[in-house]
Amino acid sequence: MKFVDDRKEGIFSALTSLVFPKICIYCQSEFAPLCLACQQLWLAPVQRRYVKGLAVNSTLAYNAAISRVVIQAKENRNRVAQYWMASALSSALEKFESDNRALSISRCLLVPIPSSRSAIRKRGGSFLHPILDKLVELQVEKNGVRWRWKELLIHRKIVRDQSELSYTQRQSNLAEAFMLRSDDLIEARPILLIDDVLTTGATLDSAFRALRERNLTVLGAATVCASAHRLLIR
Ligand SMILES: [Zn+2]
Repeated sequence: MKFVDDRKEGIFSALTSLVFPKICIYCQSEFAPLCLACQQLWLAPVQRRYVKGLAVNSTLAYNAAISRVVIQAKENRNRVAQYWMASALSSALEKFESDNRALSISRCLLVPIPSSRSAIRKRGGSFLHPILDKLVELQVEKNGVRWRWKELLIHRKIVRDQSELSYTQRQSNLAEAFMLRSDDLIEARPILLIDDVLTTGATLDSAFRALRERNLTVLGAATVCASAHRLLIR
């Protein structure tokens, strides 16, 4: 009897650790999806940067711990990671409203930076979509407003994995990376671009230019985090 109970317990704890990860995915030290200390870090003040004239609000400074959360959302569709990324994006976007009282995000359109075709194939879709859905849900709960998002961009040509490229190669690789999906999808709403990480700013700049070429208004961009290195500021 003892043997059966032990075994049941073993199976139960294996299942709960699958559903509720026992190590904080951020600092990997606590017994919670994100420990309380890391939740506090996630509520950092939003930083504003400019990438070739485009205002970019980012909530977090990129580091190894943040990258673990981003990778969990990208590769494993981890719901805790998705929640915290949505929460960081929510802060980054709200900062646009608090800095400019005339601006209302609910009258804008949030446009994600699309993943490469190979990443979409590999992951079975854009990892940003569940994060954007969560972001909309958070705002409905918090402020009773419904933000809207839509894919407007696609990759114009095959963009190689950015991590293999030098800074200069990244710039030319991304110079004309995006085009609009289709004419009838274009809306008159002003646009805010959404991405996970701001690194060189080349991706956002390319998306900005693709939309501006079609006379669409881009008010700025929001990212979960920003890397301190090699930022194209101004
Ligand atoms: Zn932690």
